[in-house]
Amino acid sequence: MSQEQVVRIAQPGAAEVMQLELVEVGAPGPGEVRVRHAFCGLNYIDIYHRSGVYPLPMPSGLGMEASGIVEAVGEGVSHLAEGDRVAYASQPVGAYATARVMPARCVVRLPDGIGLDTGAAMMLKGLTVQYLLRKTVPQGGLQAGDTVLFHAAAGGVGLIACQWARHLGLKLIGTAGSDEKCELARQHGAAHVINYRREDFAARVKEHTEGRGVKVVYDSVGADTWAGSLACLSTFGLMVSFGNASGVVPPVSLASLSANSLYLTRPVLFAHLATRESTQAMADELFDVVSQGVVRIPIGQRYALAEVQQAHRELEARTTTGSGLLVI
Ligand code: NDP
Repeated sequence: MSQEQVVRIAQPGAAEVMQLELVEVGAPGPGEVRVRHAFCGLNYIDIYHRSGVYPLPMPSGLGMEASGIVEAVGEGVSHLAEGDRVAYASQPVGAYATARVMPARCVVRLPDGIGLDTGAAMMLKGLTVQYLLRKTVPQGGLQAGDTVLFHAAAGGVGLIACQWARHLGLKLIGTAGSDEKCELARQHGAAHVINYRREDFAARVKEHTEGRGVKVVYDSVGADTWAGSLACLSTFGLMVSFGNASGVVPPVSLASLSANSLYLTRPVLFAHLATRESTQAMADELFDVVSQGVVRIPIGQRYALAEVQQAHRELEARTTTGSGLLVI
């Protein structure tokens, strides 16, 4: 048992609702592990949780990604041992903390060559890119030469997606909210970039594809981009709506899919992480591309745990690029 610093919210709201509290953290129970955190990952889903877009039972902790050292393992846990360097992306929330107890099935050992900062910066975002590019497209999946549109391409998920797509031989058209962000996405492997704050991205995508449109749109922006994203798809194209940074997509008319006989999916990472085996298999693929150096994890922002309010404000204000970390 020890007293740990934990970020808690009593009710949903703006960044100020997050407060540091001292909380007793005990020994792990059966199937659990206790992790002393080194770094916690910042993710846009933390904003949805804090603001109430994705409701949580209150009061609540926050955060779904971290790295650190295993301090104790509970009964029945055989894949981890005290002293292991580990990382995780997981439910339940509660990663914004100096240490925590959590389900061991979510936690994986980090390979020697991958630092604890990289571990916390890449698990939730990198596993997301793994399932988006490698598991989400049916009927043979994506093939080298296919063209996809990826919104918010200079963000945490976005910069990993640009690099992984290039590695797979895909032509990724990336959108971003400033010329500087567009340049960053291009440097990380986007074949074309579009500043969607000042350009009609659907018209530009049509130009880049000689009028055909793209095979897949990956849209985490939501309300603002929904209609334009549908217009970018080729016949039988797939709309992957996986987030809502600009607001939740309003109810959709099925007729909006019929003109081009489109497919639509609304996937969630945690469905893919349901078992320890699937989590490890996805993590192994991520570790492989990172260890080879074909995907680097750009860490654009680092904050102290006590600066968590500022970290959220900057993420919401669209001033961040790549991954952000809370340094414990
Ligand atoms: P990012 O670092 O990508 O930050 C979000 C980005 O969204 C901003 O930087 C901004 O980039 C863009 N954006 C566009 N419109 C707005 C707006 N109105 N307000 C704020 N941001 C806006 O975040 P993450 O890498 O953590 O996550 C990216 C997205 O992926 C999020 O929507 C997240 O919820 C989703 N996600 C979904 C998962 C799933 O399994 N369904 C799993 C993981 C992430 P710009 O200025 O360039 O437009």
